[in-house]
Amino acid sequence: TIRVRFAPSPTGMLHIGSVRTALFNFLFARHHGGDFLLRVEDTDTARSTPEATQVIFDVLAWLDITPDAPPVFQSTRYPRHIEVAEAMIAAGTAYRCYCSREELAAMRAEADAAKKPFRYDGRWRDRDPSEAPAGIDPVIRLKAPRTGETIVRDLVKGEIRVQNTELDDMILVRSDGTPTYLHAVVVDDHDMAITHVIRGDDHMTNTFRQVQIFDAMGWTRPEFGHLPLIHGPDGGKLSKRHGAVSTLQFRDDGYLPEALCNYLLRLGWGHGDAEILSRADQIRLFDLSGVGRGAAKMDYAKLLQVNAVWVRAAEPDRLTKLVIDRIEADTGGPIGTIAAGRIAEMMPRLQERARTIVELAESAMFLVRDVPLPFTAKATALITEDARDDLSALLLDFAKTDYTAPTLYAAMVAYAASIDKKLGKVAEPLRAALTGSTTSPPIDAVMQALGQHEVERRVFAVLA
Ligand code: GLU
Repeated sequence: TIRVRFAPSPTGMLHIGSVRTALFNFLFARHHGGDFLLRVEDTDTARSTPEATQVIFDVLAWLDITPDAPPVFQSTRYPRHIEVAEAMIAAGTAYRCYCSREELAAMRAEADAAKKPFRYDGRWRDRDPSEAPAGIDPVIRLKAPRTGETIVRDLVKGEIRVQNTELDDMILVRSDGTPTYLHAVVVDDHDMAITHVIRGDDHMTNTFRQVQIFDAMGWTRPEFGHLPLIHGPDGGKLSKRHGAVSTLQFRDDGYLPEALCNYLLRLGWGHGDAEILSRADQIRLFDLSGVGRGAAKMDYAKLLQVNAVWVRAAEPDRLTKLVIDRIEADTGGPIGTIAAGRIAEMMPRLQERARTIVELAESAMFLVRDVPLPFTAKATALITEDARDDLSALLLDFAKTDYTAPTLYAAMVAYAASIDKKLGKVAEPLRAALTGSTTSPPIDAVMQALGQHEVERRVFAVLA
C-alpha cells in the first residue's frame, strides 16, 4: 500500500508552503487508499520548540489533514540512525573520517582558491582505522560512488541526473555522535515504509544524496515527487512582506480551512479549469500528474474570492459559532443569548455578503451593540427632520403588524405610498437608525431579527 509522510521541522510558524506539501501528501494517500503519516523532524534541538510542534498539530487539525497514525518524533530515533550508520561501516559502505578541523579548513581554502565548490576528498575512505590519530572524534561518512551518475526519476520533474564526481562523501553521523538530517530522513523513511516522498523542490539536492544512502543500504528507494515552490505575487520568495505566510495567520484573518485548502491545491495543481472543489472531489481527482512544473505565484485576491465562495456555502450554524467566538474574543466577554440568537437568525443573509469571518463578524456587530449605536457619517446624514417624522410614523404602523419580515415590509410599502415617497427614501433612514450604517441585509429581515422592543429602542435613541 502507498504510504506518504509530512515531515515538518518544528522551528517556528508553519509556512503555507509546508501546508500545501502536507495537503498534497494527504490527498495522494487518500486518492490511492494509502496512509498519510506525520513525522516531526525535531533534530535541530537548538531551534525546535514544543510550541512549534503544537502549531503543527493545531494547523493539521484545523485543516482536517489528519495523520493515520500517531506522530513519529525524529529525535527519539537517534539510536536507530546510529545503528544503521554502524551497519554501513560493517558492510564497507561507510567509514570513519578522522580529519582535523585544520585539514578540512585547508581543503576548503584550496577549493576557494581554485574557485571550485568545496568537496571532501575522501582521504579516509580506504585508510585503516588503526591509523586514527588520538584526540579526534571521527564523523561517519558515506562511501559514495565516485564514478557514473546518480539518477532520480521524479514524478513531477521527470528524470534528473547528477555526476557522482559532483557529490562528495557526505557526513552521516557528526563527531558529537548525532545523525545528520540527510541520514536520519532516509532511515526514518525506510523504517516507516514510505513509498512516496512528496516535498518541496528545495529538497532536490538532498534527494541525490539520500538515494545514495538508500542504495548503499540496499534498500528500495521510495518514489520522489518534488513540488515547485510557492512564490510571492512579484515572483520572488514568498515572505511576510507579501502578506500572511504563517498558516495560523490565515485563520486569524478569517479564512475558512476548506477555502485555504482549496486555494492551496489549485496553486500548483490543476484539473481542467475547475476552481472550487470539495474535499471529496479533491481526493477523487488528485494525482501527481496534475502538478505544474513551474513555481506557483501566491495570489491573495484570488484566495479572498475562493474564501467568499466557501463562506457563502458554509452551514449558517457553523458560521454563527465562528462569528460569536470571534466577537467575544474581540470584545472580551460573552455577547449573551439574545445577541447570539439574532446572529443565528441573520446568518443566511450576512454570509451572502461577507468574504471572510472577520468581515462577517464586523457585519454582525450591529446586532450585538447596544444603543446608542455608533453611526457612520453617511448614516448620520440620513437622519433628517423629515426622516424623523417618517420614523415615528413607521413605528406606529409596525406596531400593528406581527413583526415578521413580510408584514413589516408591507407596512413600509404602504407608508411610503401614503406619503408619495419612494420606498428607498423611507427604508434608508430606517436602516441607518437600526444599524448605524448604510449597508445591511434587507431591513425587514433585520427588524424581524431585532424584534419589536429592540427596533423601538433603536429608533427612540435616534429620535431623542
Ligand atoms: N523537515 C524538512 C522540512 O521541514 C522536510 C524533510 C522532507 O520532507 O524530507 O523542510
